[in-house]
Amino acid sequence: MNERSEAAFAAARRVMPGGVNSPVRAFRAVGGTPFFADRGEGPYLYDIDGNRYIDYLLSWGPLMWGHAHPKIVDAVVAAAQKGTSFGVPTELETRMAELVVELVPSVEVVRMVNSGTEATMSALRLARAYTQRPCIVKFEGCYHGHSDSLLVKAGSGVATFGLPDSPGVTAQTAAATLTLPYNDIEAAEQLFQDRGAEIAAVIVEPVAGNMGCVPPQPGFLEALRRLTQQQGALLIFDEVMTGFRVALGGAQERFGITPDLTTMGKVIGAGMPVGAYGGRRDIMALVAPDGPVYQAGTLSGNPLAMAAGIASLEMLRERSAAGLYDGLQAYGERLVDAFVAEGKRAGIPVSGVAIGGMFGLFFHEGPIVNYRVASQCDSARYAQFFHLMLERGVAFAPSQLESGFLSAVHGQVELDQTVSAIQDVFRAMTR
Ligand SMILES: *Cc1c(COP(=O)(O)O)cnc(C)c1O
Repeated sequence: MNERSEAAFAAARRVMPGGVNSPVRAFRAVGGTPFFADRGEGPYLYDIDGNRYIDYLLSWGPLMWGHAHPKIVDAVVAAAQKGTSFGVPTELETRMAELVVELVPSVEVVRMVNSGTEATMSALRLARAYTQRPCIVKFEGCYHGHSDSLLVKAGSGVATFGLPDSPGVTAQTAAATLTLPYNDIEAAEQLFQDRGAEIAAVIVEPVAGNMGCVPPQPGFLEALRRLTQQQGALLIFDEVMTGFRVALGGAQERFGITPDLTTMGKVIGAGMPVGAYGGRRDIMALVAPDGPVYQAGTLSGNPLAMAAGIASLEMLRERSAAGLYDGLQAYGERLVDAFVAEGKRAGIPVSGVAIGGMFGLFFHEGPIVNYRVASQCDSARYAQFFHLMLERGVAFAPSQLESGFLSAVHGQVELDQTVSAIQDVFRAMTR
């Protein structure tokens, strides 16, 4: 039943572009009406028609503790009772920065912002200033937020709508963004050979999460580290999605690679609007007011957001020692294994990948190594799968070019229900 969501969407469309505040929420890749959230509780999301879903969307990644975790809610309420914003420093901001510096191996100094988009945009400005070079390198299918210079071959949300480059981005801006295929070391070597002296930074999702979930192949991140180092460019890990999710210290900890700058978002705010960028002390010293690179924010380091983030990161640190990330890995592998096994049994080409608290389900025999392959996935099949799972109370991302997410509060009950729903759905699909 979705009568209320239908009515809510009709009302929303009259006053907002597409009825939404972020394009993917319109469910265009799978068709149909998006369900409107009423509330969440742990691993479950309830829509305004009263349907309950096991939630693998998790607000597109931030919710490592599921919905409305009591400790996070308490922290936000306590902060709100003292005031929602001050515009002068608070001790909460220092506490948060200390946590980030402690947990993320490469980060010595960090600046809070309000979104992942702001974090990547600011990190690139800083990289250009530090190197005094104009160009940045990004990978096809990697998404780094919607700032102008990064809306070039930007994956999922953009790709879903067939806008490889958005109108409104000038040719001049786009020209300073050089793009490469993900996981292609030779192409990266060639580009550095041709244009190395112009390249300020390479920005990369160390596990790509915006063309489905696509891990780096062995040697890829190492090659980027080597090339940037040799050529005087900076390496920026965009860990907005992977940070605190594929390992406590993010992908840089998991793969043992030290980037110069790191961008964060999503998990760092536990569902509140937060982003951050940080890294080497000598580079961050260029940021105002210590240095000349301007970057500011009226609500940056907001006390409600800091309180939520601190509560979440402290719990992650504690549970990480008790095997949280191994548990997420095992959960993800069981889910993906079930998807692949049932697909094969049904004679439908499928593949999947699980890494920490992220996973990808593809209607393609795989392996998915870059955007060109990802875009060959069967989107009609995925749409069918998505809706049949939804009918059985399981919510995956409304596009297979998005990652799935797990939380610390998804347990055996949810896994078993999900696996049996997958079995049921593949039987229905072959009928
Ligand atoms: C979501 C995302 C962003 C953008 O973050 P917003 O908070 O949506 O602006 C940037 N980079 C990556 C890797 C992301 O997944």
